[in-house]
Amino acid sequence: MKYIFVTGGVMSGLGKGITAASVGRILKNRGVQVTAVKIDPYLNIDAGTMNPAQHGEVFVLSDGSEVDLDLGNYERFLDIELTAPHNITTGKVYREVIEKERRGDYLGDTVQIIPHITDEIKAWIARAATEPDAEGRVAEACLVEVGGTVGDIESMPFLEAVRQMRGELPKEETVLIHVTLVPEDTMGDMKTKPTQHSVKALREVGLYPNMIVGRSGHPLSPHTKRKIAAFCDVSPAAVISATTAPDIYQVPVELEKEGLADAVIDHLHFPRRLAVTDWYQTVTREFTSRVTVAIVSKYGIEDVYLSIKEALKHAGRATSTEVKILWLDAERFEPCQLQDVDGVLVPGGFGKRGIEEKIEAIRHAREQGIPFLGLCLGFQLAVVEYSRNVLGWTDACSEEIGEGRQVIAILPEQEEVEGLGGTMRLGDYRVELRDGTRVRALYGRSEIVERHRHRYEVTPAEIPALEAAGVVFSGTCGNRMEVMELEGHPFFLATQFHPEFRSRPARPSPPFMGFVRACREKKQAQQVI
Ligand code: GLN
Repeated sequence: MKYIFVTGGVMSGLGKGITAASVGRILKNRGVQVTAVKIDPYLNIDAGTMNPAQHGEVFVLSDGSEVDLDLGNYERFLDIELTAPHNITTGKVYREVIEKERRGDYLGDTVQIIPHITDEIKAWIARAATEPDAEGRVAEACLVEVGGTVGDIESMPFLEAVRQMRGELPKEETVLIHVTLVPEDTMGDMKTKPTQHSVKALREVGLYPNMIVGRSGHPLSPHTKRKIAAFCDVSPAAVISATTAPDIYQVPVELEKEGLADAVIDHLHFPRRLAVTDWYQTVTREFTSRVTVAIVSKYGIEDVYLSIKEALKHAGRATSTEVKILWLDAERFEPCQLQDVDGVLVPGGFGKRGIEEKIEAIRHAREQGIPFLGLCLGFQLAVVEYSRNVLGWTDACSEEIGEGRQVIAILPEQEEVEGLGGTMRLGDYRVELRDGTRVRALYGRSEIVERHRHRYEVTPAEIPALEAAGVVFSGTCGNRMEVMELEGHPFFLATQFHPEFRSRPARPSPPFMGFVRACREKKQAQQVI
């Protein structure tokens, strides 16, 4: 197993995760099997209880773990499936060590950050790196992204563990890539001082980078590269320029051009193979049309719905359609803003805020024949909307939201649940698709597996009446409703599961494909008129 450690300097938000995922992608294109570990130095056990407005989307893995959104980027870029151990947090490590201490595993030792916490971190990284995938294959290289910025108190034990691993393993088995910011002054000159300082901070903890990735507005000049190389003890070829790409999937292409793949491959003594470029061609396919999709949500913040944004992009590339997103804050948007959109998407969510407005947006899409995709909460609200406006149950509601006729109720097994962390209906469940329905045609299969994250479901007792009134529950898991669609509408589909989590650049999610195609057809039909 070879390790590619990725650290970040100067400040957060530099796109360290995308850089690391891109490094993985270019190695994969050279035939190296890659997996990834993300270290989050916060004390939370996982991202499940974190406010997405502060920390971005909670990504759900197939095993049901709720993790940092960077794991989503790794799954998308590397086209792999990860599991809980691939997201290490301070909370998880300390819990493990404290449990061992209570069991008496340390045989009377004084339990300390060094060596007990650092040993646990090293063992954890090695365990995750060597975990076989679903086909039983073990990766050849593991990306280890250390979250936060070098110098943060909370990342110290992790950096110390990385230092020890670098010392213990042969030189050609680890590489350290440091991602930093290279700002420009008011005259447009590139400044290397922040990079120098952050490399100095790395050295203080005993880490010496092999490569520097400089994030900047413009490509790093040869002069700037030489200067960084001299200060950081690396060759100028190991200083890589990373400007902001128009699309994240172009970052691997840019890094490949900069010679990063060759540098990493040579350093780790992997054979130099030619790059396979199919992936690049798929993710950079030209657009022939453009549609606008409104996402009506509680937070108008893109990072909260990252996987949805990416899934739309994947389906868009596959159909040569540029999908422009109109982010609408459910509490603030004006109904007239939906007038010119080609599709309406209501994503997942929790709580009461903005609910009535989301229901109105669904009604508008249903009545006006605008393509609609509802995800999780969006699925539940589509059922509420139909109950109110078609069945005439004006007080129809969801138990999560308020009083009235509860067409959405708490899952029976959720009633006994205590605490919020990791207690929802989470991860992979099998869903059966009914023959002759839209969703069955989209997937081309009668049984699928998709990821879940919810506590509520369609109230079983209300299903017959809903079906009699025209709701088609085209996907089910036992007696649980998973997909709803309407006949006689250009595209009205909603899922209790989250198809966005399994969408990949070269393997777009079927519901998203159907939705984007429908948006495109609607737009074309309008242009003809
Ligand atoms: N709040 C709803 C539930 O718990 C929907 C969850 C979601 O959209 N992820 O069932």
